[in-house]
Amino acid sequence: MLVRAVGPPGLRTPHTGALTYVDGQPQIPAAAVSTEDAARLQRMVDRGTTVRLKLMMEAHFLPDADSANVVGEIRGRELPDEVVVIGGHIDSWDVGTGSTDDGGGCVATWEALRLMKKLNLRPRRTVRVVLWTNEENGTRGGNAYRDRHLTELPNHVAMIESDGGVFTPTGFGFSGSDAARAKARDIATLLAGIHADTIGPTGGGADIGPSVQQANIPAFELENNGNYFLIHHTPADTVDKIEPLEVSRSAAAVAVMTYVIAEMPERLR
Ligand SMILES: [Zn+2]
Repeated sequence: MLVRAVGPPGLRTPHTGALTYVDGQPQIPAAAVSTEDAARLQRMVDRGTTVRLKLMMEAHFLPDADSANVVGEIRGRELPDEVVVIGGHIDSWDVGTGSTDDGGGCVATWEALRLMKKLNLRPRRTVRVVLWTNEENGTRGGNAYRDRHLTELPNHVAMIESDGGVFTPTGFGFSGSDAARAKARDIATLLAGIHADTIGPTGGGADIGPSVQQANIPAFELENNGNYFLIHHTPADTVDKIEPLEVSRSAAAVAVMTYVIAEMPERLR
């Protein structure tokens, strides 16, 4: 089975992605071709040409191996059991180096924590950065976090994921109560100076998803105006696409939102 690469036309660069088989059904090999090649195949079919393809594929599964989420935190000074989680995922597809998906998200979120430490800020609540493993191939890092912290999830005040690249940030998508949304809007006004003050209609992420759904936790995702889908899951996902200033702005946006949620007297609800 061949699919047209899921993404915008991108200089004949196909996008890779996950394939899952249903138990008991035939396991048909599948591949993605670039939009340009898909269009060419379509033109040939439209002309009545019988298309023949030779596919050489090296994709395969290896046996499971141990892996781990990477976790660091600043313990809250007054309410250490209440936690604000931020993070991205530390795995990537093999075709590129995973700079945009999701190395940048990891750096922006741990940098947010590092900034608090550097400024000697110890907020009221715990701020925890989690770099999840296995997002692309099963979300097992996100599922394991949920299972490991199951009894603590009701004390998770908010979860913020950065998995949309680190381009110029525009604000956050948010899912939660109307009251929490109003509070998020208030906090976001602090980011007007870098034009990152919008609060979009929905927030979340593959890695925070299992925990968010389990305990109905207010969920944010960092949003930006970049061309994430052009790059992610392709051989073009390399570090040259990362602009240091955009990483800094992304880290600043995450730091401000996270710090205020962790520090304000009332809990985000
Ligand atoms: Zn990702």
